[in-house]
Amino acid sequence: MTAETTAPNATAGDDAGAVPLLGLEPDDLERRIGSFMEEAGEPSFRTEQVVNWVYDQCALDFDEITTLPTELRAEAGRRFSLTAVEPAYTARSEDGTIKHLWQLEDGEQVESVLIPTEDRLTLCVSSQAGCALGCRFCATGHFGFNRHLSTEEITAQFRNAQRAARREYDREITNVVFMGMGEPMANRDNVFPALTVLNRGFGIGARRITVSTVGLVPGIRALTERPENFGLAVSLHAPNHDLRQEIMRIEKRFPIPELMEAIREYQAETGRRVTFEYLLIDGLNDSEELADQLADLCADLDCFVNLIPFNPIPAVEWEPTPDDRVAAFARRLHRNGVSAAVRQPRGRDIAAACGQLRLEQSGEGEDAE
Ligand code: SAH
Ligand code: SF4
Repeated sequence: MTAETTAPNATAGDDAGAVPLLGLEPDDLERRIGSFMEEAGEPSFRTEQVVNWVYDQCALDFDEITTLPTELRAEAGRRFSLTAVEPAYTARSEDGTIKHLWQLEDGEQVESVLIPTEDRLTLCVSSQAGCALGCRFCATGHFGFNRHLSTEEITAQFRNAQRAARREYDREITNVVFMGMGEPMANRDNVFPALTVLNRGFGIGARRITVSTVGLVPGIRALTERPENFGLAVSLHAPNHDLRQEIMRIEKRFPIPELMEAIREYQAETGRRVTFEYLLIDGLNDSEELADQLADLCADLDCFVNLIPFNPIPAVEWEPTPDDRVAAFARRLHRNGVSAAVRQPRGRDIAAACGQLRLEQSGEGEDAE
């Protein structure tokens, strides 16, 4: 592993009152840049130049838009802002995974992770600083909730990570998943416009953008109503009410039957395969009987189960399920006709599981057992 720390520095365009361009839906952005150019007496092709620099070149500030006259760049930098996140820390795993810790303007820090495979380059983004839902296995949950991320703080993670992807791998991001810190469905006001920006602005196909939720039913319904058919992943982690409510508080508010109903509606409307995330925790949720219960839940759905070996966190004493029993759990699902795979942990050497880099950097987890 290699790592470096970069001190956050101010960039032109951060003036109070400047309109954050990455927070606007693409049509709105074009309209506003259009009227700015018109007021400045500039030809309309200038608008296209800026739109291209924002989304295709992933500009960090107006000084990079060298096709614009210097004066115009300075004026645009006063009216609009492009900077919302600064790199605070970068960690590179031996397996190619790159994790960024981003510093926001008020000092909050959130993570994103770039995960390269042969045919994909997936970016995992954060949607909140912390999380209010308090799932017992989750490092972010143990921090509690600090605040929602704004739309531009979400899309700027993409913009910055895309620049890193081009530089470090000479590749483009192909997929985006909302599986970093926070619960995206608890921050729909900012996450839903960010989906539009990623899709129509940065050009990531809706089929390649997946929202992962702990199971907030109104959020699943709202995603179903979007015409684009974005992907849905649901963190299930237990197949029955008693066990699930022991490890995830959300089960009390939206119990499994109601959750499954919303998932079925999503599937009927979008025709898309749903992903279930299922952590395997030693002796807790990994018996073959529970695999059968999980298979029963999957019976009338087109779904895929992602089995994830639990990554230990200081706050609980749980251990990951040993490999042979992970394999047995997967076999049991297969025998029941359920598609499932064990997700290879990526970036273990750089603490790439949810919330864990921030935990290391802040020292918050250092002296806990
Ligand atoms: N709030 C959303 C998205 C962020 S959490 C959700 O819960 O789906 C995304 C994923 O992080 C969870 O599904 C879980 O699979 C993973 N995760 C959380 N804590 C983990 C841990 N200790 N070890 C391994 N994966 C973990
Ligand atoms: Fe929040 Fe997801 Fe972690 Fe649960 S697993 S605490 S919903 S981030």
